[in-house]
Amino acid sequence: MKKNATLLVPIASDNPIPFNQSKMGGIPNLNIFESEWPVCEYCGHPLHFVIQIYKKDFPDFYFPDGSNIFSIFRCPNFDCPKWYKTDAFDHPIFLYFGEVDMNGENKTFEKPPDRAVKERCENEVVECYFKPRKVDDYPDRIDYPQELLDYGVDEILSEEFKHHQYTKYGGWPARIQGDKNPDCKCGKVKSMFFQLGTDEPDDPDKKGEFFGDHGLELGDVGVITFYKCDDCGLKSIESIFECY
Ligand SMILES: [Zn+2]
Ligand SMILES: [Zn+2]
Repeated sequence: MKKNATLLVPIASDNPIPFNQSKMGGIPNLNIFESEWPVCEYCGHPLHFVIQIYKKDFPDFYFPDGSNIFSIFRCPNFDCPKWYKTDAFDHPIFLYFGEVDMNGENKTFEKPPDRAVKERCENEVVECYFKPRKVDDYPDRIDYPQELLDYGVDEILSEEFKHHQYTKYGGWPARIQGDKNPDCKCGKVKSMFFQLGTDEPDDPDKKGEFFGDHGLELGDVGVITFYKCDDCGLKSIESIFECY
């Protein structure tokens, strides 16, 4: 049942990271937008930039045909009418795939200031570079077939046969509340293509630390897993939020 996963391992950066590198926080590549910083489609609040992943850096990540960048933005407004009211039960998040000229300049428009008062607004993501690491990833108990559970496989498996609950792609989804992969409208079961985590203690240089450098708190040490249907592609993407 072993799969390969790539842990992104976000590390806080002392210096600004150029817009044309994969990273979290800071100034994103704005060329995926027309002329304005993106706003929440439910409350109009300027979105916070979370993460961008380039095909040049992670060629085995899921990129629909013609795209070379994947970005996530998030509505930080605790008073957003969709706050914890979407299917994902979290802040509304917005995904973008695009095709950008890797040698071009970044667009120059700036993020409008946060409108929500500080106490009612999630913090910006701390700017982080990635120190990616390939790992073996094993399913959570609920993803084992019944005959293996009947055999007692989850009692035999030791710590090393675990799934990683961190920011990663490939591998198995972390299970906290016991959701399974969602079904697509076409009848196929969707597969995970990305997972965003709260805690990132898997960096060997940072042992003992719990929360990720990026400062993103997804509920109570939660994860967001992103799924797509292999047949239906982009339009089938959905995310599931899980926390303790
Ligand atoms: Zn909003
Ligand atoms: Zn489908």
